Amino acid sequence: MQKKVIGIVANRFEKDTEQFTHEHLTYTMQGNIDAIEKAGALPLLIPIIDPANLSQYLDLVDAIFLPGGQDVQPKLYGEEESSLLGTTSPKRDTFEMELIKLTLAANKPILAICRGAQLVNVYFGGTLYQDETMIPSDIKIEHDQVRIDIPNAQPSHLITIQDSHLEELLGSKKVKVNSLHHQAIHELGQGLKATSKAADGVVESFINPEHHITAYQWHPEMQQRSNDKMLNLFKDFLKQNF
Ligand code: MN
Repeated sequence: MQKKVIGIVANRFEKDTEQFTHEHLTYTMQGNIDAIEKAGALPLLIPIIDPANLSQYLDLVDAIFLPGGQDVQPKLYGEEESSLLGTTSPKRDTFEMELIKLTLAANKPILAICRGAQLVNVYFGGTLYQDETMIPSDIKIEHDQVRIDIPNAQPSHLITIQDSHLEELLGSKKVKVNSLHHQAIHELGQGLKATSKAADGVVESFINPEHHITAYQWHPEMQQRSNDKMLNLFKDFLKQNF
């Protein structure tokens, strides 16, 4: 049987370093590749090019995976930039917003992780907290475990699952996930349904069954290295009829 092909949007490395002879790179984190391959599909990197050339790329793949990366530009959800905003990539924002539009039109599924989840939320009219310090909750959770030196694959905070299917996949209603985001979903976009939340109220995953969208704020592609259940999320995504 032919394997499904999952298009992963690549990121750009735009620093001049000696290691790469001062050239810029197109890349993705290895975890994105490994998780898709281990779950039984073929990863295909889609470079950030002129969005006008995107539709032919979409013909080559069965589904789209929007992985982590830069902060989303606040102007896309009608806010001024805070001084706490991190690096943004206007080029990537434009490219991925167009890709979301075309993927929905083609009725192909979208898997979105971290920045990907945030961008999909913004696409559907949702908003973000530009930094975790802006989350108005009495319960403080460190969502950026890099700041407290916890390795990427290791879980750092609990989430409560609000969706029976996700609970089945992860085997529990309370699950400890890793957390490598300093931005977070504020208002959820139209038609998106939260499937889990952290104790401070932050949406940690959502779905839109009508459009075959599955989104996670944490990084199952990293966590699957030490937790087999996290690979279930990728296998389950691939199980959909497409
Ligand atoms: Mn988190």
